[in-house]
Amino acid sequence: MDQEARRRRLTDRLPELGAEAFLVTRLPNVRYLSGFTGSNGTLVLTPGGGRFLTDSRYGGQSAREVPDLERSVSGAPLVPTVVAAAEALGVRRLAFEVDGLTYRSYRDLHEAGIELIPSSSEVEALRWVKDPEEVALIGAAQAIADEAFGVITGKLVPGVTERATALELDMTMRGLGAEALAFDTIVAFGEGAAEPHHHPTNRALRPGDVVKMDFGCVVGGYHSDMTRTVAFDSIDDTLRTVYDVVRRAQQAGVDAVHAGATAGDVDRASREVVDAAGFGEAFGHGLGHGVGLEIHEGPALRPGGTDVLPRGAVVTVEPGVYLEGVGGVRIEDMVEVTDEGCRVMAGTTKDLLVLEA
Ligand code: ZN
Ligand code: ZN
Repeated sequence: MDQEARRRRLTDRLPELGAEAFLVTRLPNVRYLSGFTGSNGTLVLTPGGGRFLTDSRYGGQSAREVPDLERSVSGAPLVPTVVAAAEALGVRRLAFEVDGLTYRSYRDLHEAGIELIPSSSEVEALRWVKDPEEVALIGAAQAIADEAFGVITGKLVPGVTERATALELDMTMRGLGAEALAFDTIVAFGEGAAEPHHHPTNRALRPGDVVKMDFGCVVGGYHSDMTRTVAFDSIDDTLRTVYDVVRRAQQAGVDAVHAGATAGDVDRASREVVDAAGFGEAFGHGLGHGVGLEIHEGPALRPGGTDVLPRGAVVTVEPGVYLEGVGGVRIEDMVEVTDEGCRVMAGTTKDLLVLEA
């Protein structure tokens, strides 16, 4: 991955921002721009280069991962190290990330004579467009999730709990080579599936339950995200209808994705299917989100959303219908945006699976 080209695209923005350097404190952005994978890293970037700042735990690691930037490894807190780097670089006006700096750091930098210019989503916007290596890593994380889905459907038996199922999914993904889980795995049985973000409980699986599973993992720093809802032994008529509606809504969303499409239009294409079936009130969340170094990033697919999808973005399409006391269905795939449409990254079927009890 060409971190230097990424840094250049960011520092090209400095004149417009009225800044001499860019202070990058959000860790996913530090990783994107430098390759550093540790938990404490900061960048002060100028058109001529810049500095990478970390502490002694990451001396050796940062030497390997960030060989092309001058590094400062110190035990001092953020503010004095940034001030020292700015002095060494001969800069005083720093653009900073409004979502990446605490009030305390802002205040102390200001008091130390640093002029701070707020900026929002500058690096995040660069990250929307994935290069082929990034897409490949997301694909590898998705392939593990697909394989784990195949394993878990074979382990759903009467009496198994949501928690045990979630743990099994987690261990399966780790066993298949995931370096981490993308987020806390959601497993919801029966009426629990009516909660969009259900926390697994000790509820035991019974014939007639739907099983909603939302899960993913991390490979090379990149996340995957998928949801499938299956029926255990049987499914009642209402939830069968809901499944069919959500399945068609998900496909309508996928079909609406292409480079240049507006996020709100994609959301509407999917939501119209749910509305037309009379379940609009039961679909409360947005249609999807970007996925990459973070599990939730831009562009945001939501009602009225103005983000325009660029070629190379990876976004989820995840409509759901949730009926209190009954259950719920969500189907979620990541897609890679192309000029003509998109490429669905999951290999797992979206046809209704009715598992034998
Ligand atoms: Zn998900
Ligand atoms: Zn998602």
